[in-house]
Amino acid sequence: MRAIFIAVGSEMLDLDRVDSNSIYVARRLREKGILMDMKVVVGDHMDNLSWIVKKACQRAQLVVISGGLGPTEDDITREAVATALKKELLFREEIVADLQERFRRRGLAMPEINARQGFVIEGAEVLSNLVGTAPGLYCDDGNCKVLLLPGPPNELLPVFEAAFEKFIAPAANYHIVSRTFKLTGISESEADSRCADVYRKYRNPVTTILASPGMIELHFLGRSKNSDEEARRLTDELAEKVRERLKDFIFAEGDVTLPEVVVAMLRERGLTLAVAESCTGGGLGNLVTSVPGSSQVFLGGVIAYANSVKTGVLGVREETLKRHGAVSEATAAEMAAGARRLTGAAIGLAITGIAGPGGDNPKKPVGLVHMSLSAGDGVRSLRQIFSGSREVIKLRSEFYALNLVREYLNQLPVDGVR
Ligand code: ATP
Ligand code: MG
Repeated sequence: MRAIFIAVGSEMLDLDRVDSNSIYVARRLREKGILMDMKVVVGDHMDNLSWIVKKACQRAQLVVISGGLGPTEDDITREAVATALKKELLFREEIVADLQERFRRRGLAMPEINARQGFVIEGAEVLSNLVGTAPGLYCDDGNCKVLLLPGPPNELLPVFEAAFEKFIAPAANYHIVSRTFKLTGISESEADSRCADVYRKYRNPVTTILASPGMIELHFLGRSKNSDEEARRLTDELAEKVRERLKDFIFAEGDVTLPEVVVAMLRERGLTLAVAESCTGGGLGNLVTSVPGSSQVFLGGVIAYANSVKTGVLGVREETLKRHGAVSEATAAEMAAGARRLTGAAIGLAITGIAGPGGDNPKKPVGLVHMSLSAGDGVRSLRQIFSGSREVIKLRSEFYALNLVREYLNQLPVDGVR
């Protein structure tokens, strides 16, 4: 079954409101193997709305519409959908009587205008809304199921859930299995180019690549009409082929973060970490200490923003700064060694870079970042030119630096303390 979501409301077109209902609905549908093909936002405009509903019903087997069921002039969803489906609107006295009763119990008279909510699309089931006044509606013309839901999220949720259980879930005949790989140390386009030829061969599972600063997620969603096992087999087949191409960059599968992975790896190996940060201003330490239990492996760090702190506290040589500059491989290496020496940690990790937007020069562009790892058996360095805003460059630096630790620890045996 394919679905289209239509969010109705001019406020989502030209003001600062965003449609969040579709995110909730898409997640619930996906759990039953129903994929959302499109989401559309339409203003409170009768012709536009009935046009898009008509088109949607021709393309999808399920159309979910939210908003515009209220009592005011701009609430036109009932009428627009009736026009699109070529159905009559019928007045149902009992809906209005029920509303009147609800108002009366609160000591109020029902405003005349609410009587509009008594109109129902011919043949539709009325979905009661106990939170608000606008009932939902459900129609099925044999080709397409259409669900009309109230716009306010706290009203949409219970009305949707009732309709989902009664009409939609029983008709959804897919088994679904999803897997997620998390990657770092590689750009989105590079990750894609390394595995696109593999995943493009498959329409099932569906593959999506999502990038966030410092990290990439690869999602695989497999479906089967027959069984969970078949969905699992299809998903695993593709996921393992992709893993083969990207294995050096995959730091976790599922809901695990890079700092969690690094903290766990340090713990398994009985090793400790300290940091020396320039452009990230403490962000790296913050990331590590966001993991509960990091105190077992994280000793501390120095925010060495000024050169005087790089030399005075971390022991970076004046000579190094003069010859190579503060943003250089040599400075990063001496910062990392300083962090290790000062704290006694097994691993020192340093970042120095130009987060921008100013401060660049022809040889050292904005986004240039040097990261360095110092350990008992030597130094590892990484130079990157990151794109993005100041905040994004800082986050990317932190992730790439932590990935240096992950790569280093990966080649150490779990119980091999150095
Ligand atoms: P009401 O009876 O409250 O008028 P309604 O079904 O007519 O219900 P709308 O008038 O379209 O709903 O929207 C009411 C409010 O619900 C909006 O101001 C907005 O805050 C919220 N809302 C509507 N649609 C969405 C959406 N797609 N995502 C998130 N919030 C929404
Ligand atoms: Mg309204």
